[in-house]
Amino acid sequence: MKRVALMTSGGDAPGMNAAIRAVVRAGLEYDVEIYGVRQAYTGLINGDISLMNSREVSGILQRGGTILQTARNEEFKTPQGQRKALRRLNERDIEGMIVIGGDGSLRGAMALSKLGIKVVGIPASIDNDIWGTSMSIGVDTALNTILDALDRLRDTATSHNRAFLIEVMGRGSGYLALMGGILGGAEVVITPERAPSMDEIATQMEDAYVRGKTHAIAVIAEGAPYTSQDLISYLDRKNLGFEVRVSILGHMQRGGSPSAFDRLLATRMGVAALEKLINGEDGVMVGVEGRDTISVPLEEVTTRARPLTDDYFRMAWMLSR
Ligand code: ADP
Repeated sequence: MKRVALMTSGGDAPGMNAAIRAVVRAGLEYDVEIYGVRQAYTGLINGDISLMNSREVSGILQRGGTILQTARNEEFKTPQGQRKALRRLNERDIEGMIVIGGDGSLRGAMALSKLGIKVVGIPASIDNDIWGTSMSIGVDTALNTILDALDRLRDTATSHNRAFLIEVMGRGSGYLALMGGILGGAEVVITPERAPSMDEIATQMEDAYVRGKTHAIAVIAEGAPYTSQDLISYLDRKNLGFEVRVSILGHMQRGGSPSAFDRLLATRMGVAALEKLINGEDGVMVGVEGRDTISVPLEEVTTRARPLTDDYFRMAWMLSR
């Protein structure tokens, strides 16, 4: 394996740059040329592919986002689009490919593997919804950003005897809402997987004041069965005796310098991905389980969903009193 292409794809996540740096620098060690693909599958189809050198990845370890940029591309989902991409790789004698991204991007990676390119995936998604790894790149940083916001909002909530509804990212997965709720000490957690009825939420928030709390915080995932606006309107109509304000954290959750955990995770995964390719592995994703770096078949990764554990839901409930 002498030439490997590298891309970041799908939603950006803090730590993607640390993974890029690890792949490029490990390439120097193993004498493998690393070709950066700009803007994910769009760049792959258009041939926006160039050899990366060590200086290009200097000073990026601590930067959020991705220097290779990312994109979403519908054409690559078609066999024609995939054949175009394959041609671009063949033209440059590129035999291997490392794809850093979420489950959609990893489905794309599997398509390439089926066409004969050797592929290793690296899970990066702030939602932590990827099967086969206990943590994905970006989750820890996003969670820290959420906790920072939650702590600040609690200060103002406490000062005014107000309740806050805080909306966090997570269309299909409530991981950030659930962990943010547990670690930020929220009274209520609302996720796509499990959502109390609006009436139950009103009762839980009222109870918090009855128990002598000076604030009530509910964390809602953007993919919950009802929107935060619907919930606020409902709580307003109920006339609970305290004001409820909503704060939608939005895209700030994706940005920022990666935490120590994410830098380490991305660095380990970047090095492991290249080593796996060199050792002849194909059609797998790098995962971490406990202290170990493992290989998980992409077939499995792309057909299974990482569920939230009951234990965390129980804990959120138990500790909210
Ligand atoms: P994420 O990787 O963050 O989950 P998306 O689901 O938007 O983000 O996927 C990113 C890109 O991966 C898509 O725009 C598309 O180019 C590619 N992709 C997604 N699903 C498939 C698929 N089934 N086959 C081929 N490519 C796919």
